[in-house]
Amino acid sequence: EAKRSGGGRTRFCDDALRTGLASRSAVERGLARAIEEDHLVLYVQHIVDARTEELAAFEALVRWIDPGRGLVPPDEFIPVAEASDLIVALDRWVLRNAVDNLARWSAEHPASAVPLSVNVSGRHLAHPQLVEHVLEPLRRHGVDPRRLTVEVTETALLDDLASAATHLSALREVGVRIAIDDFGTGYTSLAHLRALPVDILKIDRSFVANLRHDDERTLIRMIVELGHLFGLEVVAEGVETATDARELLLLGVDALQGFHFSRPHPIADVGGSETRVVAQPVR
Ligand code: C2E
Ligand code: MG
Ligand code: MG
Ligand code: MG
Repeated sequence: EAKRSGGGRTRFCDDALRTGLASRSAVERGLARAIEEDHLVLYVQHIVDARTEELAAFEALVRWIDPGRGLVPPDEFIPVAEASDLIVALDRWVLRNAVDNLARWSAEHPASAVPLSVNVSGRHLAHPQLVEHVLEPLRRHGVDPRRLTVEVTETALLDDLASAATHLSALREVGVRIAIDDFGTGYTSLAHLRALPVDILKIDRSFVANLRHDDERTLIRMIVELGHLFGLEVVAEGVETATDARELLLLGVDALQGFHFSRPHPIADVGGSETRVVAQPVR
């Protein structure tokens, strides 16, 4: 009996694995085609100054338009893309489109100055051509590198610390700003923070989701103090209510991002005077 149920479990696992693999390669094929055929769309979400709640920056977030399934969220395809060089092609699509929009905004409004963040994956961060992939679209459009922020997760940074540090330093040298995304969930040490070329810490939204707990508030306060000691700007993600926003301001957070202020929406809908800069960088 035990043996039979054990066998059943194994069979079950094999089946799950097979369907998992089948759908993984289906996603890979579909996504490769989507990148080639431009079946992706760039969304943006507002990042606001914590004090004034005025627009301080945008974050670009990619969506896949699948003819059968409609809008597919990144959580369903980024992990698949990250298992292969597909993620490099995807990130480059996003970079090109993000910079196209920065150029369009400048053409539409002379005072356009709002910074735009893009997410760069770990595999891409370690890629020998990463710096060129970021700078080439900026050069082509004559866009000021200071208007682009590159977001990398703690895990991506620590995967290949040496090449991450080299690549990010080269970008920062020409003015690109660097943010550590989902901060607090990984293992960045004080030594890393001191050595890495970083401008912004983005507190992971899991901390914000638990703001009612004393422990979480203490952790946020520590991250804020740590960030400020290193001269960094601190952003909180996942701000869903006015209460969250108020609490985070009291904890010293500089900028806020979340559904309370804006849902991600197509970047094509953003333009004109909306993109002039409003909030001054806090530090
Ligand atoms: P992320 O970079 O940390 O982006 C923030 C995510 O939190 C976005 O999810 C956003 O829609 C979501 N979010 C924002 N405010 C709230 C809120 O108030 N409550 C909740 N519950 N969620 C909120 P999204 O767009 O689904 O993206 C998920 C992740 O996929 C991103 O996390 C990022 O790691 C990755 N990703 C998205 N776009 C790209 C891209 O262009 N390139 C790469 N490499 N990764 C991307
Ligand atoms: Mg991000
Ligand atoms: Mg994040
Ligand atoms: Mg994330």
